Amino acid sequence: MSTATSEPVLALQGVTSGYGPVTVLRDVSMEIAQGEIVAILGANGAGKSTLLKSAVGLVCPSAGVVAVSGRDVTGHAPEKIAGEGIVLVPEGRQLFDTMTVRENLLLGGYTRPRGEREESLERVYSLFPILKDRLEQRSSSLSGGQRQMVALGRALMARPTLLLLDEPSLGLAPIIIKETFETLARLREDGMTILVVEQNAAMTLRMADRAYVLQRGEVLMEGPAAELEQDPRVRSAYLGDVSEQPRRDPAAHVSGA
Ligand code: ATP
Repeated sequence: MSTATSEPVLALQGVTSGYGPVTVLRDVSMEIAQGEIVAILGANGAGKSTLLKSAVGLVCPSAGVVAVSGRDVTGHAPEKIAGEGIVLVPEGRQLFDTMTVRENLLLGGYTRPRGEREESLERVYSLFPILKDRLEQRSSSLSGGQRQMVALGRALMARPTLLLLDEPSLGLAPIIIKETFETLARLREDGMTILVVEQNAAMTLRMADRAYVLQRGEVLMEGPAAELEQDPRVRSAYLGDVSEQPRRDPAAHVSGA
């Protein structure tokens, strides 16, 4: 699946990006090493999704460098970056609702050799056995948790080196959120590298190796997840610790890394 390298699987160096005249990310640098789970925390509108989109080529940086395993891919087309093994599971799943589960899954593997598809499908079924019973159902008929399984399965069909997840727990029931996190832990045990944006900071920090906190498009803090989990500023802003009083913007009182 992934190739061992001393270079980070993904590195952003001084990335500035946004939408037309609107700058969202400013001078953002981060690295994800082989086998790591890295979390991105931040308030609504902090730029987390924009960061993921900048990494996969859906948003083109106006400054800075995006590098995949040491190769500069800044400004490359999304399909080219996906071909490098950097695959996004977008916020809201974004399945093709009129297509069946099987068709949605196969779409994820369309850049891969045909001979690989059945093996990849089997791997998806081993992670999500219930999907095997739903293959011919339209994805619109699935529950939220099953839709998340298809979205993750579709991404895995591309045999990613790095999986980017945008709010995987959004809209899911607590028991399904727990199962989703367990799936991510299993993927990590299999050697997958994961960059995850999540509102559920407590569960995410427990799972992650390292984390970055974004505030208004800039990296405010970074470090080992276990350290950030204990940081009073993070506890106050993202973990619901009422002993610290957050201000209007939940991270506005955090003064530096
Ligand atoms: P959320 O948790 O609410 O999704 P986020 O941290 O992921 O927040 P982004 O979705 O990256 O934040 O949005 C950052 C800013 O960019 C917001 O002010 C948002 O309104 C703006 N933005 C996002 N997408 C677009 C777009 N397509 N065109 C213009 N502005 C956008």
